[in-house]
Amino acid sequence: MSRPMREARVDLGALRANVEFLRAATAPAKCMVVVKAEGYGHGALEAARAAVEAGADWLGVVDIAEALALRAEGVAVPILAWLHGEDADFAAAIASGIDVGVSTRDQLERAAAAPGLAIVQLKFDTGLSRNGIEERDAAGMLARAAELERGGRIRVRGIFSHLANAGAVEDAAQLRRFEAVLVQAADAGLTPEVRHLAATAGALRIPAARFDLVRLGIGAYGLSPFDGETSASLGLRPVMELSAEIVSVKRVPSGSGVSYGYTHRTDGDSTLALVPLGYADGIPRSASSAAPVSINGKTYRVAGRVAMDQFVVDMGADTAREGDRAILFGDPATGVPSADDWAAAANTINYEIVTRIGPRVTRTFVS
Ligand SMILES: *Cc1c(COP(=O)(O)O)cnc(C)c1O
Repeated sequence: MSRPMREARVDLGALRANVEFLRAATAPAKCMVVVKAEGYGHGALEAARAAVEAGADWLGVVDIAEALALRAEGVAVPILAWLHGEDADFAAAIASGIDVGVSTRDQLERAAAAPGLAIVQLKFDTGLSRNGIEERDAAGMLARAAELERGGRIRVRGIFSHLANAGAVEDAAQLRRFEAVLVQAADAGLTPEVRHLAATAGALRIPAARFDLVRLGIGAYGLSPFDGETSASLGLRPVMELSAEIVSVKRVPSGSGVSYGYTHRTDGDSTLALVPLGYADGIPRSASSAAPVSINGKTYRVAGRVAMDQFVVDMGADTAREGDRAILFGDPATGVPSADDWAAAANTINYEIVTRIGPRVTRTFVS
């Protein structure tokens, strides 16, 4: 069976192994695997199912619509959705048993007014300065939430916040602020079942930040949240391997200009291999003439500009055949470049490299 021209091969066995490893490393905290943004580009449903098989207690998403899509496919574990616009369908969330993350008074009242018992988790801003209840509003929000809970309109199942990963001192300050919120919540009469603060980085580096639950995103996909730490150094296996079929091979003379603007010229008679992936597929244009590509066991570089649909690899004196595969990144333990290598070449982070891989790329799933 031939492989798709553009393929993101997703190793669900690796994903399960990562989740099992991270669960063991962070026990006895429960484990939420975050599958927002199509599972960081890997496929939300498949990632969710594999995570649950590996023992994930919870799934996390951003939009209620993402949670509803998982429910529609029969995913039954608890799901939390934490970012909402005016059009967010709280009634649908409640009807489908989705926990609603609440960051504002308006969201709290909308959840309470929707039909059924709203299961909410109050999100506090402890220093990231994104969404979440601010310190000055905390007492009022907690009192109102307790009142609505006593009235049978809501159940406050969780209290959570998110770290800025700005450094040890800043993380510690957020941790203290979160602990103060938990005391305030208890004083208000709330009895949350899950208190949670840490994503992958905090879960691994700050044991005191684990509380009842850790929210694992990037680590589940086998990538490191830390600069200068590889997947292997953390005990993780990258889940995605991105490759494409080489669709054209040609020999060109020395001095040939390659791709738009001729930012690359061959410096000898060269083989040019054309790879049908471009910025429309999430390949960063900023990786032009920089990022590594493996062909037949040897690593070359992108030659010249990444275009919308394609880029060129200058193989110098080597040759390849049309139909051979170009591997952009995968598990470096197999001798191919890593998502970290691509992130460095494109001046970004591994999260962005995998998450932006677009819909023209066929996901295939292996166990
Ligand atoms: C995306 C996200 C996570 C997961 O973060 P990772 O660094 O990928 O582990 C956890 N919590 C919240 C609130 C998020 O938005």
